[in-house]
Amino acid sequence: MDVAKVIVDVPSKDTDRPFDYLIPDRLRPWVEVGSRVGVPFGNRTMQGYVVSLHPRSDIDSARIKPIQSVLDFAPPLSPDLVDLSVWMKERYACRQITALQSMLPTALKGKAERYITLADPSEREQGSREGVLFSVQPETEGEQNVLAFVRQRGEVSLEQLNRAFPEESASVKALLARGLLREYQQIKDKLSKKTMKALELAVSLEEAQEALNNFPAKAQRQKDVLAYIVEMEPFLPLSLKEVLTTVGVTAGTVKGLADKGYIVIEDMEVFRDPYKGRNFEPTEPLALTSEQKQVYSRIIHQLDERNHGVFLLHGVTGSGKTEIYLQIIQRCLEQEREAVVLVPEIALTPQMVERFKGRFGDRVAVMHSRLSSGERYDEWRKIHEGRASVVVGARSAVFAPFTSLGLIIMDEEHETSYKQEETPKYHARDVAIRRASQAGAVVILGSATPSLESYHAARSRSSSEFEPELLEMPSRALGNRLPEVRIIDMREELKEGNRSMFSRPLHEAITARLERKEQIVLLLNRRGYSTFVMCRSCGYVAQCPECDISLTYHQKSNNLRCHYCGYAVQAPEVCPDCGSEHIRYFGTGTQRVEEELAKLFPGIRVIRMDVDTTTEKGSHEKLLKQFRDKKADLLLGTQMVAKGLDFPDVTLVGVITADSALNLPDFRAAEKTFQLLTQVAGRAGRHHLPGEVFIQSYTPEHYSIIHASGHDYLSFVKDELKHRKALHYPPYCRLILVTLSHEQLPLLVRVAENYASDLKRRADRRGWFGSLDRFAAEALDVLGPVASPIPRLKNRYRFQCMIKWRGDMDAVSLARQVAEELQDSVRDTKLQISIDVDPQMLM
Ligand code: ADP
Ligand code: ZN
Ligand code: ZN
Repeated sequence: MDVAKVIVDVPSKDTDRPFDYLIPDRLRPWVEVGSRVGVPFGNRTMQGYVVSLHPRSDIDSARIKPIQSVLDFAPPLSPDLVDLSVWMKERYACRQITALQSMLPTALKGKAERYITLADPSEREQGSREGVLFSVQPETEGEQNVLAFVRQRGEVSLEQLNRAFPEESASVKALLARGLLREYQQIKDKLSKKTMKALELAVSLEEAQEALNNFPAKAQRQKDVLAYIVEMEPFLPLSLKEVLTTVGVTAGTVKGLADKGYIVIEDMEVFRDPYKGRNFEPTEPLALTSEQKQVYSRIIHQLDERNHGVFLLHGVTGSGKTEIYLQIIQRCLEQEREAVVLVPEIALTPQMVERFKGRFGDRVAVMHSRLSSGERYDEWRKIHEGRASVVVGARSAVFAPFTSLGLIIMDEEHETSYKQEETPKYHARDVAIRRASQAGAVVILGSATPSLESYHAARSRSSSEFEPELLEMPSRALGNRLPEVRIIDMREELKEGNRSMFSRPLHEAITARLERKEQIVLLLNRRGYSTFVMCRSCGYVAQCPECDISLTYHQKSNNLRCHYCGYAVQAPEVCPDCGSEHIRYFGTGTQRVEEELAKLFPGIRVIRMDVDTTTEKGSHEKLLKQFRDKKADLLLGTQMVAKGLDFPDVTLVGVITADSALNLPDFRAAEKTFQLLTQVAGRAGRHHLPGEVFIQSYTPEHYSIIHASGHDYLSFVKDELKHRKALHYPPYCRLILVTLSHEQLPLLVRVAENYASDLKRRADRRGWFGSLDRFAAEALDVLGPVASPIPRLKNRYRFQCMIKWRGDMDAVSLARQVAEELQDSVRDTKLQISIDVDPQMLM
């Protein structure tokens, strides 16, 4: 193989294809598919990834340049991951380089650095032979100094040189121009490995023992060191620092021993282990309940056949899903295959990590965003070098560099955080399924409230995307009941003169817990803060007549707008339904609730957990630990308090206003509300004490609230699917959100309109365009353009089009093609078009 195709890290659409490079002989053993390489590109050196190898190139070989360097001993990407990047490019309309980079820790995003070295004298001669008149001597004192500096060091980075001679940049330039100095570029990783000095025997153990017997008496200290090293032989290499303190000698003594040739002092890598020093109580597999056993054996059967398969594990909170994951991972490891466990970022608490580390110890790597980039890099290398065979991590752990993957588990599969909001805008569920199908691995999607997409796919098994097999666990593993849930009608409270944010029943319940010294979790859903308008007398919420989603309040223009279709009305002064004046924008902050709590329950100890109190590293854990240690009576927070927490003394869960999520301008609002309420209700009474849940609501008749209170997922799904079908939303169609942005509004409006009409025309020509109303198996419709929910961001105006489509057509590539053609014709580099396939965030 003489030629490598390389995807180069140049962020431009014209370079989004592999380029050919020659493989020089000296690099031949190192260049593989997935290698990271430094290559010349234009007049620069860039980082790139080898995506394939070929015996020759179609391009004239005189015109292709050689690869300059290979950046890692072992390729950071496997051929499987390279294939996956091609799929991602098509699936999410992103660049391949973006897909490749999203698979690696940021520490590997190397940058070219410029180095200066003495020019090769032969090159200089050649310069003069060609008739260029060079002065080959330094001409000034400055030049002399610079030259001496470089000569002494052999090579220096340009940055270093500029720092040493801040006044001499003209001299450096002149020396480069006259061929006395030469510049070259080299890719440097952002981060270095951490090393420490370590000791290793340079002779065999027998020779060392022999030497001890005849050691010169005057070198007693050196003898002590050698004796210690011989004694500790099974643990070699030893850290120098440790030897110095244990034996009580100086570094000089150790060096003397090394000079005699008995030992070597070397640099040894140390790994930053974020969980170092923490003890994880080892746990044994539990005897499974009969419900668990059924699920377990079905999945094991598939795993043993080493066939790809996707399971949707629908199990109520506390049904013992995690124990099943652990035992299936065990089986996977026994097959000498590896396992990926995906957990939503927010649920990746020490409690969760503990359960996996407790069962599999050091074989577990952990990856989440709260690690420093150095720690992330080290955890990644632990996987890459085969020292870990299980990874527990957030979204991006789906790219863990395993080579014989057997299992991918996605816990809480309905969580929106599995969708990445930056490019590449991938969904970890889809990537997981794709990756597992390449590897012949099993996927388990677990949830108490599966996403409608997954559940629908499992029930109908007719989705072209994926067809999971449904497994159900309707009871709790410990046999305790799901908590009692009470819905409190806040309209009634207002009618009876209670203007507080706490209803009387919730107030009483809190008082009772404080007396009994039991704990309380209080959820406030702050998303959608102050954006929708609601009547406090009757619960009326202004909705779009076309789209059946809540209208968003715009303070500046004092009107209400639909973010899907652009419909707008004046904000009402009185409720259009009941005439009440208690109609206003809605939302309460956690801080206000905290103040109110202090007023109503003097002396109550509250821990507030929201984005403001958890920015600091480790603060999330610290707050939870305080709560567990009963340093507080009440945990108050946003979504964060709803996920995966397990506190035995929590017997009361309160939800301040269930509706605040319900009225977001998002067709998934009801689904998200149901999921959140079910999750948070699952926090109560998980152990011996029975739990109680109070949901305060202004729309208590809403099906998502009623079904959540009855822990009734199936009824919720039935009702919700009816709505989705009638209004043509997923899972009955798919969506592509196209956002266009530019500094100039008139230009943007014109371009956005062109985009929509071009797309319609092109789709129509292919016979795709049409309303989804017809029962057509194939249809594509374009809504908009309308101003985006955030109409102006960083001085750029934003407009969006929503594509709804159904069928086997390639709508993504059409959306991308039209965008690229438009960009070519507008020829304005400031125009940005972003494509979000299967968007989760519609606000
Ligand atoms: P889920 O992940 O479905 O919410 P967990 O796996 O956290 O459920 O299990 C809930 C509780 O039941 C945990 O305390 C767990 O230790 C316990 N548990 C699970 N399976 C068993 C079992 N087979 N025998 C005894 N206890 C179990
Ligand atoms: Zn609308
Ligand atoms: Zn009203």
